[in-house]
Amino acid sequence: MITMRKVEKHYQNFHALRDVNLDVRRGEVIAIIGPSGSGKSTLIRCINRLETISSGEIVVDGARVEAGKNLARVRAEVGMVFQQFNLFPHMSVLRNVAIAPIRVRGIAKAEAEQRARQLLERVGLAAHVDKYPDQLSGGQQQRVAIARALAMEPLVLLFDEPTSALDPEMVGEVLDVMQSLAATGVTMLVVTHEMGFARRVADRVVFMEAGQIIEQGAPNDLFDHP
Ligand code: ADP
Ligand code: ADP
Repeated sequence: MITMRKVEKHYQNFHALRDVNLDVRRGEVIAIIGPSGSGKSTLIRCINRLETISSGEIVVDGARVEAGKNLARVRAEVGMVFQQFNLFPHMSVLRNVAIAPIRVRGIAKAEAEQRARQLLERVGLAAHVDKYPDQLSGGQQQRVAIARALAMEPLVLLFDEPTSALDPEMVGEVLDVMQSLAATGVTMLVVTHEMGFARRVADRVVFMEAGQIIEQGAPNDLFDHP
């Protein structure tokens, strides 16, 4: 579903990505781990074109991401969940989840809100649909962000350290939601420091160092104590 070939990303003389090659199959869950500054975030940001690559090729569902003209398609097909939730503070939880389908896809408000309610139920927030983001805990806000990403029915969901901004007691509730998505076949690339998640939930773990993928494989083959 996603193919990266000989991808390079340079910032002036700095090589953030070097010769990155990666294939992601439909339904696969990939954990991307590695030291700070190793290029993990850059790698996934290139997939939805928050960053443009310097050379190489990225193909998502048959279309080249770097081609320039298909940005709207890329953004619709590739959902993203950030470390800092990035919810709209002036919109209710329900509105946050329904707004992109209404504005971007032209879905009728009632239908989009009905679907948003289902998604919020799926992430355990049915009781909070009329609240505003600042009335929720960090873990709840991140679950809204996941529901919002799912509302566009993306082919793949990218997560950029989704639990790093959370208080420790809220990490589990977000990982649990991600684990349940994985179990229902959602394709996911997850940049994370949560080794337990990488071990238990990921189909494949990708290790990065200095802009390169230095190793990848099934968690059982890569970790000593699966
Ligand atoms: P990671 O996610 O593994 O911590 P990043 O992908 O965020 O790493 O960053 C990789 C490297 O690229 C870092 O050294 C970072 O400083 C550098 N970098 C990221 N964005 C920019 C930018 N806009 N300009 C210059 N350097 C950048
Ligand atoms: P240890 O800290 O001894 O490695 P675990 O392997 O149980 O303990 O947990 C590792 C990480 O997995 C913890 O940071 C925890 O937050 C996270 N985690 C907790 N619940 C889940 C879950 N349901 N699915 C995946 N990861 C989880």
